[in-house]
Amino acid sequence: MKPKTIKENFRIGMRSIVEHPQLISTIAIAAVIFGLFLFTADRFARIALDAQERLVNVRIGSIQDAFVAFVPERIDSDIEAVHRAVNSVVSQNETILDFRVLRTRGTRGWEVVSSVDLSEIGTTRLSASEEFLIGLAVSDPFNSFTREGSLGGDRVFQTARAFRDARGTVQGVVMTTQTLSEADRQINQNINNSFAILLTILLLLFLLFFRHARIVDYTALYKKLKEVDTLKDDFISMISHELRTPLASIRGYAELLSEGGELSDTAREQARRIMVSSAQLDRLVEDMLDVSRIERGQLKLSLKVADPVPIIADVVETLMPSAQKKNLLLILGRGESAPIFIDESRLRQVLVNLIGNAIKYTVEGEVKVTTHLESGKLFIRVSDTGIGLSSGEREQIFQKFVRIQNKNTSRVRGTGLGLWISAALVRLMKGTISVESIRNVGSHFVLSFPVVEQKASHEGESKQETKEK
Ligand code: ADP
Repeated sequence: MKPKTIKENFRIGMRSIVEHPQLISTIAIAAVIFGLFLFTADRFARIALDAQERLVNVRIGSIQDAFVAFVPERIDSDIEAVHRAVNSVVSQNETILDFRVLRTRGTRGWEVVSSVDLSEIGTTRLSASEEFLIGLAVSDPFNSFTREGSLGGDRVFQTARAFRDARGTVQGVVMTTQTLSEADRQINQNINNSFAILLTILLLLFLLFFRHARIVDYTALYKKLKEVDTLKDDFISMISHELRTPLASIRGYAELLSEGGELSDTAREQARRIMVSSAQLDRLVEDMLDVSRIERGQLKLSLKVADPVPIIADVVETLMPSAQKKNLLLILGRGESAPIFIDESRLRQVLVNLIGNAIKYTVEGEVKVTTHLESGKLFIRVSDTGIGLSSGEREQIFQKFVRIQNKNTSRVRGTGLGLWISAALVRLMKGTISVESIRNVGSHFVLSFPVVEQKASHEGESKQETKEK
């Protein structure tokens, strides 16, 4: 199959939305998650930048505080000590790009008296923004003033703080230039990572959304299939019920015909064939009705504690003519017996199916039915020397309508419903059914039922009586 293009997938997605308006809620949730994430990432970035700025200002503020206390005493007597202090601060703070001490020269402006850049010492050149910042610092000598600027694309902060002589007159200004490029780079990196995560989440959300759309499709399909299935069950059940009455009258009239004395041999044989065929049809209708009852959970059992051996003996006797017709030995082996909790007519149905199958699928040899007790269970074993089954076939035969098709089975008639119904009936009677088989050697179908303790058996019967009332 050709893979679908993005455009085709998008079109399918849009069609799903139109067909299933409930998907809109999924999209709304996805949009809210996306929006929330965006909002949180943005807030996080702002908080990080603010915190970074505050930290820098506090640090620079304290460095300048220290300088303001230190410089006035030494600016005239020991300028070398000032140079050393400036160099020491810059070498210990790699984010400080520039550190200058400026002294007022009255009307001649401000002269750099100490700086990391020695070539600046003695100069009086200042930019307009620096002059403005110094003006602010002079107007309020108790505080540091900061201005944000940019240098080569990076954010920089310039901070100025005035210092005064012993008489309180402003003597000069300490000015630092600080870069935040490293911190900014890290924050930007975090923001980029957040966006990459956001995109991944968004992609996952879209995948989830398309899966959801598909599940919604499947749910609708499943509902439709369920409806069709129910319609089919209703139809089968209705047809089966409708077939029952005409079938019964066909059988009845054929019986009357064959019993009438004035029939020729040919006509009597024809009447017999009508009876046989309608009996087959009757069984098929009963099977269809059983399937429909089991599937709807409407099959009612009439459970009671009973000894299964007489039932087994009766079924063996009933099926003896079909075995004899094929020259097969049908044996009821001597075995153990115990009371079990069963629906007698349903157990009979299961046994007719298993022993009937054993006769149907055995060409020569024997069919044997035995019983034995083990670990509190009664086992009923139907064994034959028939065509047998492969391991793959053994796994399939309990499914509805499954018939093994090969040259040995092509002439045998059946519907593939018998074992499915038998398995369901056995389950409803709290028993188990299993098969052991070897191809061309034979098969053993084994039923097991929990043995009912004698005392419990009365309880079982009384329970059943209460149910039937
Ligand atoms: P049906 O006999 O009507 O086809 P069943 O459900 O009773 O349907 O059996 C399903 C299939 O299992 C049969 O078609 C047959 O291929 C296989 N099978 C059942 N019993 C035996 C057996 N005793 N030996 C070999 N194959 C069997």
